[in-house]
Amino acid sequence: MLTIGRFAPSPTGPLHFGSLVAATASYLAARQAQGKWLLRIEDIDKPREQSGAANAIIQTLGSYGFEWDGDILYQSQRQDAYRASLAALQTHTYPCTRSRKGLPTLPAIRVRTPDDPICFTDNIQGNYCQRLSRDVGDFVLLRADGLFAYQLAVVVDDAFQGVNQVVRGADLLDNTPRQIWLQQLLGLPQPNYAHVPLVLNEFGQKLSKQNLAPALNTSERLQTLVAALRFLQQPCPDACEFSSLSACWGWAIAHWDMHYLKPSQA
Ligand code: GLU
Repeated sequence: MLTIGRFAPSPTGPLHFGSLVAATASYLAARQAQGKWLLRIEDIDKPREQSGAANAIIQTLGSYGFEWDGDILYQSQRQDAYRASLAALQTHTYPCTRSRKGLPTLPAIRVRTPDDPICFTDNIQGNYCQRLSRDVGDFVLLRADGLFAYQLAVVVDDAFQGVNQVVRGADLLDNTPRQIWLQQLLGLPQPNYAHVPLVLNEFGQKLSKQNLAPALNTSERLQTLVAALRFLQQPCPDACEFSSLSACWGWAIAHWDMHYLKPSQA
């Protein structure tokens, strides 16, 4: 079966080293399997979006030598698909209004969650289970502000694009049972999952746009890529051993081995 992987950044700021690590792992896993690697811009949360970030992300990925297959999918163009899936889930959902004094309330739509555990085997983190009703509770699919939630959009688009290999940061490990639950309700196939360890800053926090992780360096790309490969525990030679960025990619695709990565706490 053809492997189809993807990288799905949200355009809330520029790419940082943590996003490079996640992109690199998903790219190498797909390319080593001679599969496809897709790029999807998750621009569904307009209030959190930073203007110009989507193009900056695409440009940075290109400058680092990532080559994606086909057209870039933009979630902002996929509202009809999310609406149709929400309608298909109607018997499992309910509107939920949390009133706040003095504020007009709008209903969010939540999906009911099961008491039985949802378990899956992550290719890096091993077996992972969650009892959604207890650990998460009924979760939002359509927000009160009218925006579709990430959980619904990601499931609909992974299935639409035929993604069967999801490699992403370990901060999303505990979102996965929610996504598997939606796949089950919608009758969609379940991709294989691998959650790579997170890059932490000096305070032990995940690098993120919220805690102002620096944008990726675009002048020392080869050194930065080597650093990402080493973070991913690949026994990568020094940057000076490679004549070019593409020589480094060639080495990385030929030698990629996910087994070097050990389970981590998300
Ligand atoms: N858009 C999400 C983010 O940037 C990632 C979604 C995913 O890989 O499932 O954190």
